[in-house]
Amino acid sequence: MTTAPSTAILETDGPRLLRAVRALLEQKGLVNTQELQERLALTDSANPGQGARMVAKAWTDPAYHALMLADGTKAAEAMGIPMRGMPPLGVLENTPELHHLVVCTLCSCYPRAVLGYPPFWYKSAAFRARAVRDPRGLLASEWKTVIPDGVTLRVVDSTADYRWMVLPMRPPGTEGWDEARLAAMVREGDMIGVTVPRA
Ligand code: FE
Repeated sequence: MTTAPSTAILETDGPRLLRAVRALLEQKGLVNTQELQERLALTDSANPGQGARMVAKAWTDPAYHALMLADGTKAAEAMGIPMRGMPPLGVLENTPELHHLVVCTLCSCYPRAVLGYPPFWYKSAAFRARAVRDPRGLLASEWKTVIPDGVTLRVVDSTADYRWMVLPMRPPGTEGWDEARLAAMVREGDMIGVTVPRA
């Protein structure tokens, strides 16, 4: 006779543990239900369109560009994106000489406030390992993003204490485009550095 694996225990213990921790935090006055619900709603509503609007603004407004590089959190707030209680946001600018790739080698730390939930591949062990070991090969084989040999590729570790997003280069052929049109072109991967925007 075979014994079925005890997945039922895992499925019921997770939510039960979560409820117990929540109750304890509330009992100790560290959080309340309303705060938790607000935070959940904020995270659920965050999406890559928010980061894309920041990128488009930085491409068209020099003052905003400077603010974004100096303080990503303030730049997000200036676009109406709620950042209260979120880890600080840093913005890395790609240039003709320097390309950035963001990874969380430990788990899945992602600039959720400005991009929403991370894509499935971002959390995979394969991405996290190869981003460090062979970033050029990873980008070329999985995303067809070829970083020329003359361009420095800098891999940046996102952590629980600090989140990074990439400010990609504005592609040629977008001269005269307004912010909305530019923002619509920017994809999630462009802001992590796995792809580059194309007009
Ligand atoms: Fe993480």
